[in-house]
Amino acid sequence: MDPYPEDNAVKVYNTLTNQEEDFAPLDPPKVKLYTCGPTVYNYATIGNFRSFLFEDLLRRTLEYFGFDVRHVMNITDVGHMTSDADEGEDKMAKAARLEKKDPWQIAEFYMKAFLEDAESLNILPAHHYPRATEHIPEMIAMVERLIENGHAYEVNGNVYYSVRSFPDYGKLSGNTLEQLVAGSRIEVREDKRDPLDFALWKTDPSHIMQWDSPWGRGFPGWHVECSAMSMKYLGEQFDIHCGGEDNIFPHHDCEIAQSEGATGKKWVKYWMHARFLLVEGQKMSKSLGNFFTLRDLLEKGYDPLPIRYALMSTHYRQPLNFTFDGLEGAKQAIRRLQDFRTRLREAAGEGENPELEQALEQGRKGFEDGLAADLNISVALAALFDMVREVNRLEPSKTDAAKALGFLDRVDNVLGVLGEEEKADLAENVEALIQQREEARKAKNFEEADRIRDELTAMGIALEDTPQGVRWRKA
Ligand code: ZN
Repeated sequence: MDPYPEDNAVKVYNTLTNQEEDFAPLDPPKVKLYTCGPTVYNYATIGNFRSFLFEDLLRRTLEYFGFDVRHVMNITDVGHMTSDADEGEDKMAKAARLEKKDPWQIAEFYMKAFLEDAESLNILPAHHYPRATEHIPEMIAMVERLIENGHAYEVNGNVYYSVRSFPDYGKLSGNTLEQLVAGSRIEVREDKRDPLDFALWKTDPSHIMQWDSPWGRGFPGWHVECSAMSMKYLGEQFDIHCGGEDNIFPHHDCEIAQSEGATGKKWVKYWMHARFLLVEGQKMSKSLGNFFTLRDLLEKGYDPLPIRYALMSTHYRQPLNFTFDGLEGAKQAIRRLQDFRTRLREAAGEGENPELEQALEQGRKGFEDGLAADLNISVALAALFDMVREVNRLEPSKTDAAKALGFLDRVDNVLGVLGEEEKADLAENVEALIQQREEARKAKNFEEADRIRDELTAMGIALEDTPQGVRWRKA
């Protein structure tokens, strides 16, 4: 297909300008994408995965339109305080204290868990997953650069960013310094010149993870990790930076102040943020009993792909209300697409139907128009299901079906919900049992046929009698 065709220009909503813009990367067809990754002190929640799935949909959509995406996601394993700012306890230290492990074990364990979870949700792996603790020299270099050009200062071993040295501070969130001062409940630290200044380096010999620096043994601030690591892997200017809306302030405004303060250049062209998630209409909270990690849902017996669908199928700039009814709906939607695929594979008729060709073309256009309009997934899915209904109604020939299957493949490169083919050995086993059952039925040995059916049911296999023979699927 044509790469990023002119008549289908992709539009994205840029948090920096508060408007939808034509997507024009710095060096097309390359797209450099940085997404704030997890702080690995616990399992990721479905709220976290809402953001990660929005980013996955963004990447897959850009790839669908012919862009060549380079994706970097950091792993935060030090320096992220419970307040998201300078106060509180390091989340890693807290987890280590609660679990009675050392923070390196905590990081190792939850990073692995995160990567497994992301894989089960069929999230494409990033090209790099830089870990904060492995990039301390890069962070120190950035802090030194900021001190040299007057954006940062050291007091008693701590280095702070001087927000008043960067007139654009707050431009992403729309906060002005005056508003921030007025609304601030920030505890005044005596060594900060301004209470709004934020830490780049903290010297703290009692911190559970520490490194040597020109200012003393200590650890980096969370914000500087993302500036240093994104620029190491993507360069001093790149195309897209994503996160959840709770990252906009202070995290992303601080990142901008650091990166642009260090280079004097505009840093990121497009900022994109996913909105929050509710569960059954309420904010997730442990006390309400509606707080779910992905693992909680898997343990309840839900499959990952319907969870993926449910978390992805609301436009990313709308709050997402995750419900168990919605999850059931997601399962049925996937089933409809899988059944469609099966019917297409079994199509045996001759000829070609121009009406069907038109239905496919209309489906393709609707799907692409939806995605190109700032990832409007509802429009894209509506077009897709209209197309499925129409193609089914028109009873595709073998040739028609091949075209539809080709399109469905490309659709699923974006949606990622159809799943792998059943494992060959399972399929073989099931086919053999179905064959035996057919023979038993032909021999009018209905007792045996029923017994085999029960055996298949016990394996979680559902049978359906169709004119093309017996069809099966995992129930
Ligand atoms: Zn970040």
